Amino acid sequence: MAVLRCGYHRWKPEVRGPGVPLEVVVFVDIPSHLISAGEGIPQVCSRHGEQATQQRKVTFRSLAPSWTYLLIPFGLLLFLIVAFAVKKRVTAPAWPFCDRCRRLPTIRLLIGLGLVVIALAVLFGSFELTADASVPGPLFLLIIVALFAGLVTAGYATRGAVARGRVSNDGTTVAFRRPHPRFAEQVTALHQQAVAAQQGGAGQYTAEAQRLPHASS
Ligand SMILES: [Zn+2]
Repeated sequence: MAVLRCGYHRWKPEVRGPGVPLEVVVFVDIPSHLISAGEGIPQVCSRHGEQATQQRKVTFRSLAPSWTYLLIPFGLLLFLIVAFAVKKRVTAPAWPFCDRCRRLPTIRLLIGLGLVVIALAVLFGSFELTADASVPGPLFLLIIVALFAGLVTAGYATRGAVARGRVSNDGTTVAFRRPHPRFAEQVTALHQQAVAAQQGGAGQYTAEAQRLPHASS
């Protein structure tokens, strides 16, 4: 049964730097059925914790299942198509975004495509400039790295990536990694209110807020 969970990292006093809060939110897991129903969603964005200026439809996706990587020897395109097709999806009808969040997909797309264009321009430029159409090894490596970085950056130019939401492998929850503390606070408060309201009735509400210590990061 999917429940709301909040993972915290608690700093040891001796390693905590000045100005670092005692607790840092590492993740918030929100049940998928609440996301798709648009229930208990805060008014601040998950990334910056700022008041939302727009509510947009977002589709969150899971990572590709590990078995799909076995398809890579049969062709990268086949792998990409199958991996895309079998990813679990959860659509939020109206997800909060602040002004900074709204600009991020465009900025990422421009940076990503810019890197690809520059890498290709350098590649074809060096073909033109050298008599035997060869590219020096270090430059070729740099071009490949720039191409890869450009494609990855463009791949993160989605609203779901900006909100840092990822569907779990079984599809029951959407995890938000390193959410802003204000977002985590509002989610927890909204769910506790909902639980309290439901407990007056049949007590069937499943989203009990859980607070989990988290050892990583
Ligand atoms: Zn934001």
